[in-house]
Amino acid sequence: MSDVSPAKPASCPTEGTPKNWEAKSEEIPTGPHGPVPPVVQFKNVSKEFRRGNDKFLALDGVDFVVENLPDCGEFVCLLGPSGCGKSTLLRLIAGLEPHFPPSAGEVLVGGKTVLGPGADRAMVFQDYTSYPNRTVLKNVEFGLEIQGKPRAERRDIAMSWIAKVGLQGHEKKYPHELSGGMKQRVAIARTLAVRPSIVLMDEPFGALDPETRYSMQELLIQLWKEMQSTVFFVTHSITEAAYLGDRVYLMHGPPGRLVEEIKLPRPEESPLEVESRADFREVVALLKSKIHSPKGN
Ligand code: ADP
Ligand code: MG
Repeated sequence: MSDVSPAKPASCPTEGTPKNWEAKSEEIPTGPHGPVPPVVQFKNVSKEFRRGNDKFLALDGVDFVVENLPDCGEFVCLLGPSGCGKSTLLRLIAGLEPHFPPSAGEVLVGGKTVLGPGADRAMVFQDYTSYPNRTVLKNVEFGLEIQGKPRAERRDIAMSWIAKVGLQGHEKKYPHELSGGMKQRVAIARTLAVRPSIVLMDEPFGALDPETRYSMQELLIQLWKEMQSTVFFVTHSITEAAYLGDRVYLMHGPPGRLVEEIKLPRPEESPLEVESRADFREVVALLKSKIHSPKGN
């Protein structure tokens, strides 16, 4: 493992974190009710797709552990070139077909084998998946309706999330009346309003212009700090992973392999400001060299 991190915030202890993604976690953190299982664990997970008579190995023997830190979720970035299996890995956590189930190995969430989708996990996609016939408010209320929250309560929760993502005054608009950045704010509000313990994001800012992308990255970090959930964020942008990730899982492929886990410090600055910092540029250069080296070294 490469550790370029000087320190983590006091609220996010890193003790017990494996030094290498290959290492198995021997020490299980202990909570008030006994040992706390990892948030997500992959045990030698492979995924093979069939194309006619051909077999195609999309993921090959992926092993990792994301521990459960008390009152503090981690921000995990999956970084790698197109086709290296990032979405496959993410959708295996989500329990979504056709990537789920794995062809071999085991995916565990909260210590239990994943059997399919669940309310503890929520996904944000690149292509602004709002319901076109629902207003912003109704979109954000959707998951709360499914949870059976009473009307007044779900309205309050939805309105507070709409404010948090900066969409006050747009509650009655429909998705087609919004810009790409605004649509993705709706998707984020809708996803976070149901308070999932794991948020899965598949290149959510990939279609946005650079300035909107910066502001969305900053917003996401601000919201994540309040939420205490674990985020898995797929990107092929090195600077995005370097800015967002507490840890970056570097992937190569196909066949998709996890080649290295890299711990990173959390910048205090905005994404634009941090790019002028020499140590940030060094991290970006390091990641770039690892992405282009055959073994990630
Ligand atoms: P990434 O998200 O890193 O771009 P994916 O996880 O989407 O990569 O895909 C990894 C590999 O698996 C790619 O070569 C892709 O073509 C293949 N693949 C993904 N989904 C399917 C599928 N449903 N059927 C066949 N092959 C697939
Ligand atoms: Mg993908």
